[in-house]
Amino acid sequence: MAAISTMGMSLYTLDSLINKYIVEASSKLETAEPMIYKRLLDFTEYEQRKVTDFIVIHHTGFPDEDKDSTVNDIHELHQEVNGWAGVGYHYLIRKNGMIEQGRRPDMIGAHALHYNKTSIGICLAGNFDIGTPTRVQMSSAQELTLWLCNKYNIDPHKKNAILGHCDLNDTSCPGNNLYRELDEIREYCRYNGA
Ligand SMILES: [Zn+2]
Repeated sequence: MAAISTMGMSLYTLDSLINKYIVEASSKLETAEPMIYKRLLDFTEYEQRKVTDFIVIHHTGFPDEDKDSTVNDIHELHQEVNGWAGVGYHYLIRKNGMIEQGRRPDMIGAHALHYNKTSIGICLAGNFDIGTPTRVQMSSAQELTLWLCNKYNIDPHKKNAILGHCDLNDTSCPGNNLYRELDEIREYCRYNGA
């Protein structure tokens, strides 16, 4: 039987081309922007960040409580107690997995002394010296980190692409129980091809 061809292309070739596009489209879907809740937060000043070399993971870490703070709670604290422009983290991930935007992603944050001009800060609500991050919190952290790696061209295979706050400053943040799970976030980003 003669091969059926479409514009000089065999059906087999056409079929593999279509498959190729389906695979490409679905891998793009995996790196799509996760659902991010944007709150109305007023900052006293903004400064554009020009460089984004790595991502820093934090916990809110209130001393005696594994608490589910909102981004508005942290915004108020950082403004009124710390006297900063507003919440220092770019994102806060709640215990139910909800991602709240803090400081606008392209602005210089206030989350890792000496490294704010070159990094983006993600904070998970809780004290992970006491508690452990929830599964949905970890999934949101993975999705968000993968999306940010793509957005800012950060290669998750690089050793210092995704760090815990304690890798940079003298602090116990993000708490032992989250720090030991950072590899899970790194592997997710590497595996999903950021
Ligand atoms: Zn921290």
